[in-house]
Amino acid sequence: MSIDRFELVRASFGKKAQAVGAPSQKSSEYFGACVFDRAKMRKYLDPETLEALLECIDKGHPLDRATADGVARGMKEWALENHVTHITHWFQPLTEGTAEKHDSLIDLDGKGGVIETFDGSSLAQQEPDASSFPNGGIRATFEARGYTAWDPTSPVFIQEDTLCIPTVFIAYTGEALDYKTPLKRSINAVSDAAAAICRLFDPRVNKVRCYLGWEQEYFLVDEDLYAARPDLMITGRTLMGHMSSKNQQLGDHYFGAIPGRVAAFMRELEVEALRLGIPLKTRHNEVAPNQFEMAPIYGDANLSNDQNQLVMNLMNNLARKHGFVVLLHEKPFAGINGSGKHCNWSLGTDTGRPLMAPGRDAAENLQFLTFFVNVLMAVQRHNGVLKASIASATNAHRLGGHEAPPAIISAFLGRTMSAVLRKILEVPSDTPIRIAGKKERSVGLIEIPEIFVDNTDRNRTSPFAFTGNRFEFRAVGSSANCAGALATLNAAVAEQLLDFKKALDAELEKGKTLQVAVLDTLKPIIAQIIDTICFDGNGYSEEWQQEARRRGLDTETRVPEMFKAFTTPESVAMFTRTGVYTEKELAARNEVKWDIYIKKVQIESRVMVRMAINHIIPAAVEYKTRLLKEVALNQQVMGQDGCGTEIELIRRIGGLIEEVSDRAESMRLARKRANTLEGEYDRAMAYHAIAAQIEELRRPIDKLEEFVDNQLWPLPKYRELLFIS
Ligand code: ADP
Ligand code: MG
Repeated sequence: MSIDRFELVRASFGKKAQAVGAPSQKSSEYFGACVFDRAKMRKYLDPETLEALLECIDKGHPLDRATADGVARGMKEWALENHVTHITHWFQPLTEGTAEKHDSLIDLDGKGGVIETFDGSSLAQQEPDASSFPNGGIRATFEARGYTAWDPTSPVFIQEDTLCIPTVFIAYTGEALDYKTPLKRSINAVSDAAAAICRLFDPRVNKVRCYLGWEQEYFLVDEDLYAARPDLMITGRTLMGHMSSKNQQLGDHYFGAIPGRVAAFMRELEVEALRLGIPLKTRHNEVAPNQFEMAPIYGDANLSNDQNQLVMNLMNNLARKHGFVVLLHEKPFAGINGSGKHCNWSLGTDTGRPLMAPGRDAAENLQFLTFFVNVLMAVQRHNGVLKASIASATNAHRLGGHEAPPAIISAFLGRTMSAVLRKILEVPSDTPIRIAGKKERSVGLIEIPEIFVDNTDRNRTSPFAFTGNRFEFRAVGSSANCAGALATLNAAVAEQLLDFKKALDAELEKGKTLQVAVLDTLKPIIAQIIDTICFDGNGYSEEWQQEARRRGLDTETRVPEMFKAFTTPESVAMFTRTGVYTEKELAARNEVKWDIYIKKVQIESRVMVRMAINHIIPAAVEYKTRLLKEVALNQQVMGQDGCGTEIELIRRIGGLIEEVSDRAESMRLARKRANTLEGEYDRAMAYHAIAAQIEELRRPIDKLEEFVDNQLWPLPKYRELLFIS
């Protein structure tokens, strides 16, 4: 029995938006209802436990057993009131998505019944038998088991009937096996390095906080059409498909009216997210048809990243209730925009002073300049490894395309800040710093506007852009865990700040004022970055590729090769000095990255070959046979002449069938050869070549879609997948 494509399309078109009842409460009333937040801590914990727990959260003190028991008691009470039956440690292994293993709260009571139990030990630490998660050889080599430990800076939450405890995932020998651990280490590293500098400006500063506001892009497709596409189901993207005549040329989807079915999904998602304490703020249609975006209000990076992981899970679950499947792949459809996850990143002191935004007076602006310039220098020094931190088999399809950041990391400053930096190079270091606009423009002064209001000055082609009060790391992929990119960025910034502080101290020892010492230290840095990492031009242009090479920026485009940037001497020095990764962890993670790369391409290649042989060739042969019969019949009845068009079509289709078959076979053989290679890196490079073969095999298939009778085509086409009514 064959699938009736038209039936599926009609059914998808006829689906109506699901009624989502409006919540009877205001958002503020149910925000965080499912989170064991500070308000619940106050309600359910005794004062002593509460105080001890807050010390752990705010000052990073370790959690002792008595406190853990006290917290567990209160949590259990809250959980039972909310009909919780299970608990799980919730963690972020080096796979995609999160991991959980549920344990029921019940225990035998010795009298033939059961009771609910939950104590400090099961809150604080667990040893899931999680031996199948990727670890890059760490666990095999050292025979170390892995354990999960509660991260008290990330609040516990309830999902359905389960109490979820956010945890780190570590080997007994101490190596991180997850995304969260290095992110937390990097937040501490950047806090320590930054706070030491901030105290020169304000001695009250104890800590510097790291903020993240992510913008999650995604596609939705109808679940019935999705189910008829083996490539979407198995690889998350379409491996074949001719362009729809209309796609995004008219720009009519971007910020357009949100289709009813989608709006219903978004509404339900937002209510659930708010209940989980995730402050979703923005929702809109994106550029490509069926593409959407959402963003929360930014928050502490560790928590905000947990929330992003949680939202990705929520989206997957809720979409199905509305008859959709969410595509988080960076490039589900060729020829139209892919999806990213802009990471808006900034630092701020625990006294409430943002460090990436202009200040209210000269001192605050001097502090802003200090951090602004050092971030740029950090990005310059480590542009190769920053690119590696966002690289993956899936994001590779998006980078370098003319809709996404190019495969070269550069920083966009905007006209104002570029001018400020150039000005600093020209003037003496004791030149007054003024707030622009307050006084008449004066050539002699360093002028910084109070706020950057000019949003038109934004450059969409830049992978790392300053946007007034933060940097936007735009190269991160939609399916990624932001922690990979943020840990690298934080480590690079922390290292640069340590070096800067040393140089600054030397200047201060000479008896210079703070401003003169700071500007004297910043000037040589500005001179190095201003025409290297700083680039306000068009990142998509051909010239930029050459220009970037001339500037010494990393222009590598092969993903497996990019990963090597993690283990260069400069990267190892940066990561170990800041304590973000050990050398062993770096090597292990590269093994994991290569392995995942290999498997992703391998799966795609297999699916592609199967579809070529089981779907495409049979449909093309059937049509060709029909044409042949027609020509034969025509010749029998009408004599020799006629049928020029049909014969031409038969020749073309015949040629394409042969090409599909040849390319599929040569790709199969290339896979066989690649699989005999020993090292992960060598195999990954061989699979990099296979990734190109997948695209080559796609071409004759998409051509066949153009010629073969629409009735016979076995897969939903782009025009059917991409326009939700
Ligand atoms: P745009 O599309 O214009 O970049 P959005 O509103 O879609 O803006 O997303 C911007 C994101 O940046 C939001 O998550 C917002 O909370 C976050 N953000 C704003 N200011 C900061 C900041 N200082 N630090 C980190 N993130 C920020
Ligand atoms: Mg943005």
